[in-house]
Amino acid sequence: MHATVLYAPRDVRYEDVAAPTILQPTDAVVSLPATCICGSDLWPYRGANAITGPTPMGHEYCGVVEEVGRDVKAIRPGQFVIGSFFASDNTCPHCRAGYQTSCQRRALVAGAQAPRLRVPLADGTLVATRDPPSDDLIPDLLALSDVMGTGWFAAEAANVTDGGTVVVVGDGAVGLLGVLSAKQMGAERIIAMSRHDSRQKLAREFGATDIVAERGDEGIQRIKELTRGVGADSVLECVGTPESMQQAIQATRPGGSIGYVGVPHGVMLDWADLFFRHVRLLGGPAPVRQYLPQLIELVFSGAINPGKVFDLVLPLDHVAEGYRAMDERRAIKTLLRP
Ligand SMILES: [Zn+2]
Repeated sequence: MHATVLYAPRDVRYEDVAAPTILQPTDAVVSLPATCICGSDLWPYRGANAITGPTPMGHEYCGVVEEVGRDVKAIRPGQFVIGSFFASDNTCPHCRAGYQTSCQRRALVAGAQAPRLRVPLADGTLVATRDPPSDDLIPDLLALSDVMGTGWFAAEAANVTDGGTVVVVGDGAVGLLGVLSAKQMGAERIIAMSRHDSRQKLAREFGATDIVAERGDEGIQRIKELTRGVGADSVLECVGTPESMQQAIQATRPGGSIGYVGVPHGVMLDWADLFFRHVRLLGGPAPVRQYLPQLIELVFSGAINPGKVFDLVLPLDHVAEGYRAMDERRAIKTLLRP
């Protein structure tokens, strides 16, 4: 089997690897009709994370179960399933509290930019759809594996409420789906911060009522103007840089909440500043598993189309071009077909 392996910054290869097999009795092997590249894959691709050796890439997946280990009870071969980037048992105290990405037995899923994938803790990790999806639903279901679930968590963590005012910092796939999530949760005003035409357009399609193209102090100034000097009730931080976090903190009203889901790189907070701002912070790797049943229903009912974030489709063996396109911001998110 061929799969995607990162060797060094900007050196990503589609090459021969051992095909995935059942290693633990709780594993499943899933055949993937499509896979994709995540914005967070760009951190190691750009050299922002150390690469210690050849690294199998990809953590977003959905597909048909081919094989399960002997201890897997609920998941069966032939089912169409979706899972999160962290495998979880869904039974430990953290899972039961809804934080499956902090599972006591969590295991990172890696190697999904490939035609087949081994998923640990299959019973806890995978959610099966009631019926096999039609082919046109595959991009929407694939998006649930990470970006849609992450946007949803950002909105929930930011305490988005019916009629509330929301700011979304970041116009990548997660930010755009944060807009969609806030809309679903009933936000009345959704201000998307974006400088990019095609992303502004998609943000509006997903429910953004205002676009702010300015950044830094000017960006904050615009948010203040749009909220009568008050700031937003809820702010979704979907980037992970010191600048984006500052933007989020300053856009929030006293008593407001920030949901931060951009993987932090070099972010340091001034706690005294934070103390006087009265903002709530909740973030982390999104517990996507918690939301999968609900989000699968929303996709099947046609209420949401998160697959619209895929604006580039390539054959899987062109994966390197998919990375380049996202790195150069020519594409929001690349879908890959084996
Ligand atoms: Zn657990």
